Amino acid sequence: MSPPVTGPVSEAVVDRPLLPLERERPRALYVHVPFCVRRCHYCDFATGPLEDESVATSWLDALRREASARTPERFEPRTVFVGGGTPTELPERELAGLLELIGDIAPPARLTEWTVEANPGTLTPDKLALLREAGVTRLSLGVQSSHDRILQTLGRIHSWDEAVAAFGMARAAGFDDLNIDLILGTPGSTLSDVEVDLERFIALEPDHVSTYGLTFEPRTNFALWRDQGKLRGVGERTERRMLATVRRALHGEGFRHYETSNFARPGRASRHNAVYWRNGAYLGLGPSAASHVDGIRTSNIRDLPSWLRRVREGDGTAAAETERLDADRKAGETLVLTMRRARGVRRSWLRSRLGFDPLRTEERARALGRAVAAGLVGDDGDRVWVTGSGLALADAILADLL
Ligand code: SF4
Repeated sequence: MSPPVTGPVSEAVVDRPLLPLERERPRALYVHVPFCVRRCHYCDFATGPLEDESVATSWLDALRREASARTPERFEPRTVFVGGGTPTELPERELAGLLELIGDIAPPARLTEWTVEANPGTLTPDKLALLREAGVTRLSLGVQSSHDRILQTLGRIHSWDEAVAAFGMARAAGFDDLNIDLILGTPGSTLSDVEVDLERFIALEPDHVSTYGLTFEPRTNFALWRDQGKLRGVGERTERRMLATVRRALHGEGFRHYETSNFARPGRASRHNAVYWRNGAYLGLGPSAASHVDGIRTSNIRDLPSWLRRVREGDGTAAAETERLDADRKAGETLVLTMRRARGVRRSWLRSRLGFDPLRTEERARALGRAVAAGLVGDDGDRVWVTGSGLALADAILADLL
């Protein structure tokens, strides 16, 4: 999962003392690999086809330079997430080089989790062995659907059978912590498709499932085709029923819906993403990667050639955007991120991390009161959380609290 960038981004840096939360040293590392076999029709991530191995070599050289320029002193990450893009699309030489670089910055013996995203169409036993030997502990497989017609609609490069084979290969290579992604709301998909997806996914026995509602991002083929009237979404009501179906099926199998989009078996919740959800500090490297260090959020240049040029020709950094929020907006951001978790957030925690309780401001107190009265948010005086009936409306509720 890519780190979140919330709120408007500006060059303006507000000069104010650091909140307790902002004094936290970064303990998580994200690395962005900007290559995929080809772009899926719904995807707006910073990625493109890798036409020549030399481009991957240049990217890796620049990544080394960026890492040496930006790694904070006494950086001791506990979690690493390598996303993209498709990290497993890298040729073996560059994949080995990337793993070595990360191992130098984040020694595997000190990590509690090291996740790599993998596209089922790009996994091989040799690449899996490289990942295991380097110390990677967790794979996140972009399976998305168990129906070949839906995979084709999405523009995925793999079939369901290939996804099953990749999952088996990962288990055989020794990975005991596997996530699979499921997209809800693909044009042309139905509730019964999702029911079949769940039966098939559960039969694979994953440790974690991430579900995402499909969105029509600007400049994607899906947005273009929708605007031309060639396809349309399944509608909010159907998508809500799909999510309810996922919840029911995964709960029945012992998964916990621990975050708006994520389900885990006991002990398998993502430790890396937990840093984002508590608005913690992390370093992000590579094109488009976001960082959150000393309360300052930065996003790197998205476009690979421009990122390469900037890293090579400048001081090794390539930030496109820098944002530092005032204390109240930082508190709103923290509230929204932490309330994505099923357990919600405690006011006592907010006070200790922010120095004040953001829910006491007049507007937020009113928004909270409305959500509690509607049964969408629970409030026991200390802890506040989005209820089961509020989940489908979580984004709107959180926007109101922001
Ligand atoms: S594999 Fe993932 S990152 Fe690559 S184009 Fe498809 S959705 Fe985007």
